[in-house]
Parts: sequence; structure tokens; C-alpha cells
Amino acid sequence: MIMRMVFNKITLSFPEENEILFLKKYFADSIIQFRLAFLMVTILYGAFGYLDSIVVPEYANLFYIIRFYIVVPLLSFVILLSFTRFFSKIWQILLLISFIVAGGGISVMTMLVPENYAYYAGMMLIFSAGYFFIKLRFFLASIAGWTTLLIFNIGAVFYADAGSMILISNNFFFVSANLIGMFAAYNIEYFARRDFFMNQELDRQKVVLEEVNKNLEIRTKEIEQLSYIASHDLQEPLRTLTSFAQLIKEEYAGKLDAEGDKYIDFIYNSAGRMKEMVTGLAEYSYLGKASSKVSVDCNEIVKEALADLFDSIKTSHARISAQELPTIRGYQTEMRLLFQNLVINAIKFQKKGMVPEITISAEMRKKEWLFSVKDNGIGIDEKNKDKIFVIFRRMHNHSEYKGTGIGLAHCKKIVEMHGGKIWVESSPGAGSTFLFTIPK
Ligand code: ADP
Repeated sequence: MIMRMVFNKITLSFPEENEILFLKKYFADSIIQFRLAFLMVTILYGAFGYLDSIVVPEYANLFYIIRFYIVVPLLSFVILLSFTRFFSKIWQILLLISFIVAGGGISVMTMLVPENYAYYAGMMLIFSAGYFFIKLRFFLASIAGWTTLLIFNIGAVFYADAGSMILISNNFFFVSANLIGMFAAYNIEYFARRDFFMNQELDRQKVVLEEVNKNLEIRTKEIEQLSYIASHDLQEPLRTLTSFAQLIKEEYAGKLDAEGDKYIDFIYNSAGRMKEMVTGLAEYSYLGKASSKVSVDCNEIVKEALADLFDSIKTSHARISAQELPTIRGYQTEMRLLFQNLVINAIKFQKKGMVPEITISAEMRKKEWLFSVKDNGIGIDEKNKDKIFVIFRRMHNHSEYKGTGIGLAHCKKIVEMHGGKIWVESSPGAGSTFLFTIPK
């Protein structure tokens, strides 16, 4: 089950320990970008010193001192600090302070040199848009932005006596810059958090999947072991049983009474049937193990399958028509077995005295081939349509129609090995059509 991301919509914080984990990751993911941003700011800020001497020659000296004796060394110091261990605990606060100081600086400049307000407004815009670049978290970015605006307005109203037009237009720029910055910061942080959450979710799902896989592996091993035991270890006592029943049949023929002969026959026949079942089970568990997918021309394998069924076809006088079939990617032997099983059944489950008529065809669909094997046999009751695909499930007793009940289980396994589905459309007395899909 996929969990929903729970977080505070305003501060964007996660609950409890997830927040600690996220902040760690956020820092690890941001540190290089942070250093780059500070390095660029330091260099650009130094280079812009030249502009000051043109724009505000009367303050150039003062700015020179502030710029090169205070701000640039301070920025460089922060870059160096970023290589220390405890920096991860203070980096956001340091960013906040840097922003307020720098924003305050621009505000002061706007007050001192109101005629150059456009220059400073532009600077504020670039500055605020930079929120996302240095990864100041959204709520701190908002605090920084509005504090700067407050500094500007207090200064402009109480100390600089700025004209109302300048006040309005500066506020317009500063507020816009702030909103853009906040929007960017919100999005960047939100997506970083979503990324973090999704990764966590993926890890969680991976653990669940691994567990399911492990369980499945254990189950598969158990089943393999079981079918190995069934198919190999049971063969031996069965062989003994059949051969001794055979011996009794031969040696004691006529020496037992009629009942005795009947009982021996029962034992012999049952042992024979059980042998068939055990062999079938062994085949079932080995299906698809050895082979790999190849290009299979279904016309060819149907031909081979029919050749193998030559005797039953001849005895039953079955009329089989195979239409043009496609070439697919699949398991060659298994595909032949699939057609063979379906045709055997189509011949076998036939009304007495009727000639089996069987049509094999295929139809192209968007992503798969739809094959069908249609007969004019006894048909299948609605309630049995799923049961017949279960291993050893038979709808008829052995004396009526011979078989072990494993043929369709084979078919289902083979179709599913190919990523397809198998089902039957039928009604009693009206013949059956077995349909299966094989992906293209
Ligand atoms: P088996 O043929 O050994 O009985 P299968 O697994 O091949 O085992 O078939 C299971 C059951 O499905 C059969 O016992 C029969 O009742 C039914 N069945 C299979 N194919 C057909 C068919 N073509 N027409 C009618 N019934 C069928």
C-alpha cells in the first residue's frame, strides 16, 4: 500500500524523525550548490564594487571598506566554515542572517540614494530569486524577505523621508521579488521533500517485495521438493506394485476365483493410473525449466503435434483443420504440448458415434495473439469452467473417459509461462472452444 505524504503545509516539515532524516539529506544534497552560490556571490559582489564607484561616487570609499573588509571576508569565512562538521546545524540560520543583512544593505542603499532606486529594485529582484539557488528553506526565506521589506519601509518612512512615489514603486518591486522568491523556495523545498518521501516509500516497498520474494522462493523450493519426491521416490514402490500385481495376474491366473481376479485387476489398473499421474506430475514440475524462448512457427508445431497423435486421429476419424497460424516467441516443446493436449481432449471428450471436428485458428490482437481450439464434443458445464484447469481435477470418471486430469493444468502452466491467459467457452452438448492468448 502506498502511503500519503504527511507534512505541515506552511513550514513544509515532516512529522518527527522523518524531519531529522530529511534535513540531513537536504543538507547533503545542497552543500555543493550552497558553496558554489556563496563563491559566486563573493566574486560577483567583489566585482560589482566597480559599479558603486560609478553609481554612488560619494559613498565609494565607505562601500569599499564595507565590501572588502567586512562582507567579502565574512562570505569567505562562511565558505570555509561549510567544510566543518557542525556546519549542517547552522547553515540555514547563517543563510537567514546573510539574507537579512544583504537585503537590509540593499534597503539602506535604496534609502540613501533614492534616485537610483531602479538599480536597487533590480538587485532585490535578482537577490530574492536567488532563494532557490542557495536553498534557504521556505519559511526562513519568507522571514528573510519580509524582514528586509520591513527594514526598508521603516528606514524610508522614518529616516530617509522618501517621496511617496519612490516608496510605492520600491514596495511594488520588493513585494514582487519577495513573492517570486517565496514561490520558488516553496516549490524547491516541496519537491525535494516529495523526492525524499518517494524514495523512502520505494525503499519500504522494496523491503516488502523482498520479503514476499523470499517467501515465494521458499514455497517454490518446497513445491519442487514435493514434486521431486512425488515423481521420483513414489515411482519405485509403484513399479514394485505394478510388477508384482502383473506377476500375480500371470502366475495365479485361473487359480483364484472370479472375485480374486477382479481384485487383482483393480490393483493393477489403479497402480497403472497412479503411475501415469506421478509421471504427469513430474512433467508438470519440469515444464519450462530447461528451455528458453525461441521463435516458434505455430503451423510447424501443430503439424508435429498432429503427427504425434496420428493413432488417435486415425481411430476416431477426427477431422482437423488448422488455419494459418502466426510465428511467436515462446517455448517450442511446451507450445507443442499445449496444442497436443487441447487436440487430445477435443478428440477424447466426444459424444459416442460422432466424428470429432476440430478447428485450430488464431487472430491478431493489439498486443497478443488469440488462439482457439474448437471442437464439436460433449461441452462443459458452466460451473466447471474454472475447475477443469486445476491439477488432477476431472469432470468424468476414468471408466467414462480415460485420463489423469493433468492435461489442462499443463496447458494453463504453459500459457502462463508465456504471459498469457487460457479459458473455455462452451455449453453442454454444444462443443467447446478453448481460447488462449500469447503476448506478441
Ligand atoms: P483429462 O483429460 O485427463 O481428464 P484434463 O486436465 O485434460 O484432464 O481435463 C480436465 C477435464 O476437463 C476433463 O476431465 C473434462 O471433463 C474436461 N475437458 C477437457 N477438455 C474438454 C473438451 N474438449 N470437451 C469437454 N470437456 C473437456
